[in-house]
Amino acid sequence: MDLTLPPRELHQRAIVIDGHCDTLLNTLSSRRDLAQRSQQGHVDLPRLREGGVTCQFFAMYIEPQFKPARAARRTLQLLDEFYRQLALAGDLVPAKSVQDIYDAKRQGKVAALLSIEGGEAVEGDLALLRMFYRLGVRAMGLTWNERNDIADGVGEQGAKGGLSQFGKAVVQEMNRLGMLVDVSHLSEASFWSVVEHAAAPPIASHSNARALADHRRNLTDDQVRALGKLGGVIGVVFAPHFVESQGKASLRGLVDHIDHLAAVGGIDCVGLGSDFDGYGVSSGQSGVMDDVSQFPLITEELVQRGYTGEQVLKVLGGNFLRVIQAVVG
Ligand SMILES: [Zn+2]
Repeated sequence: MDLTLPPRELHQRAIVIDGHCDTLLNTLSSRRDLAQRSQQGHVDLPRLREGGVTCQFFAMYIEPQFKPARAARRTLQLLDEFYRQLALAGDLVPAKSVQDIYDAKRQGKVAALLSIEGGEAVEGDLALLRMFYRLGVRAMGLTWNERNDIADGVGEQGAKGGLSQFGKAVVQEMNRLGMLVDVSHLSEASFWSVVEHAAAPPIASHSNARALADHRRNLTDDQVRALGKLGGVIGVVFAPHFVESQGKASLRGLVDHIDHLAAVGGIDCVGLGSDFDGYGVSSGQSGVMDDVSQFPLITEELVQRGYTGEQVLKVLGGNFLRVIQAVVG
């Protein structure tokens, strides 16, 4: 590919990967159809195409009222919603391997990678983890904000515990199966425990730099460096509270996070993880951009700041692609 193309063309040719959205929960409650361009929410197939997205991660977020006893059942309902949407939107195709992503790009389709947000989904049983893998799940965030039987979430302030014995078995089994271990919502102690025990590069699907926005869900420079060393990737998140400095969230502010993560952890650890449909859906709060159709604005800003074509491609999806290749295959 010609790496000196103008930003719009560079973007259209790139493999663009978004590591996190909460669209499935949104469509399950609103019954909106991802095949149709909607005024609601941030993500649907027409807008993914306008945004030049090649692969969108679809998280299955389990709300607190389903934890812990009905977490697996709730995950299955979200899985059913995922496959209902794929049936409605024929050009939205499941991504179970890196080849599926390349095929989608070649065929002008959009690949959809299933992830679980909250390890309660497996209800303490590796057999359920294996079944979710068989149903197409390729990534899992070990916790949401609270503690579970795998690890402590980021809401457990000051907790010193890392992965439980079961948590270590989960990470090991995910590595064996070929599932991405997502550290985005982990407490710091749990994060370091994953760093110690993971046999494959972890991802932080939707987190920013704590140095720029002091939010508990953002990563410290030490964490960023550790993920960089392990060959992992961090998807920058667009939700305003994770981006803002001096009370303002903007596209330029988001790209400041990309600058910082690249400076600290290296350009190879930076990706995108919007969290679309996971924030501001009812308030109409858009943060750094209105919806996924505006992804090309990131490329324009990166080029304007002097990123080379090669660096832009890494941030847009090349780094996620490398980790998916290494872990999922
Ligand atoms: Zn989240």
